[in-house]
Amino acid sequence: MTQGSKPPIIWLNVFVFTSSLLLAFVATPIYAYYHGLGGEHWLWLLLAFSFCNLSITAGYHRLWSHKAYNAHPVLRFIFALGGAFALQNSALHWSSDHRIHHRHVDNNDKDPYSAKRGFWFSHIGWMLRHYQPAAYGDYANCRDLQKDKIVMWQHKHYVLLALLMNFGIPLLLGVIYGDIIGMLLMVGAVRLVLSHHTTFFINSLAHIWGSQPYTEKNTARDNGILAVFTFGEGYHNYHHIFENDYRNGIYWWQYDPTKWFIKSCSWIGLTDKLRVSPQAKIEKAKALMLRKKAEDKIATLQNYQAIKEHLETEYDALIERMSEYYDSKKQLIENKKNALSKQYELAILRVQHKQIKLQFEQQKRTWNSLVLQYV
Ligand SMILES: [Zn+2]
Ligand SMILES: [Zn+2]
Repeated sequence: MTQGSKPPIIWLNVFVFTSSLLLAFVATPIYAYYHGLGGEHWLWLLLAFSFCNLSITAGYHRLWSHKAYNAHPVLRFIFALGGAFALQNSALHWSSDHRIHHRHVDNNDKDPYSAKRGFWFSHIGWMLRHYQPAAYGDYANCRDLQKDKIVMWQHKHYVLLALLMNFGIPLLLGVIYGDIIGMLLMVGAVRLVLSHHTTFFINSLAHIWGSQPYTEKNTARDNGILAVFTFGEGYHNYHHIFENDYRNGIYWWQYDPTKWFIKSCSWIGLTDKLRVSPQAKIEKAKALMLRKKAEDKIATLQNYQAIKEHLETEYDALIERMSEYYDSKKQLIENKKNALSKQYELAILRVQHKQIKLQFEQQKRTWNSLVLQYV
């Protein structure tokens, strides 16, 4: 596209984003000042906000865009309603965009919200003009989703559902608590603005601000602070390399409520076939990144070649020990599963595994102390 020939503005989107922002930041404080807001307004704001965002992160994103797990129709129906409430287009449309984003990440011509086009564009600008008029129609990259009856039902009735959820829920709460305007402002406008922009942060900030522990091949970043506002989606660097993992924050201490939600649902049969990336692959990606960073740091040193060779040797040893360790772990688990396996064989395997584990850990320590001298 040439400079100066910008595509036409999508006035409906401009109107929705601007009016909700004005209602949230101007009308709501004025209303609160003159009429006051109760605990119920804040409680329902939090509940509605969580409902919207989890429907996007667990539903639109990890379930439908990435097939990271299977969900019971009841849960898919709830996500379809929550997604319409979040006002981010239908699940089919959203997933189609998102799959293109992963496939062509940072490609300014193809990635619908390429971070390389700047913060504003990737945050919201991409939705304000008809940048990709030819991209939709048959949703060819979502053939699987077109077999999901709930996805297609939501897609067909999206506008009606979006109106019903966005006006119906605040109105209903307004009638129950006797404050229709207050609920329309808090659960309608404020919730929508918060839900919109926290989700948009994943396309903008999560591609600008944070660390890159797994890959440098794209702009995606890991950011623990952003994870708090985005229900765990802040671990975006990990997500862009292992996109089919149902987790984004893979360590237990990483704040990822979407992961906890999906896991909890599996205990009551609402979700199953939760996909996780092999630990060996994850550790390998991390080690490779550290090696690259160390090599960059030592590039100007006089004994560059010697250090580089040392790094290479230790890295190779690490990868070897690592694959030995995970192979042996796998074998042990398989044997444990087999109740008929002889105790004797198992005992030998255990001893071997312990030894391999020690060797791997030793090599990991050597590697870390070596590489951390440079990064
Ligand atoms: Zn991304
Ligand atoms: Zn994704």
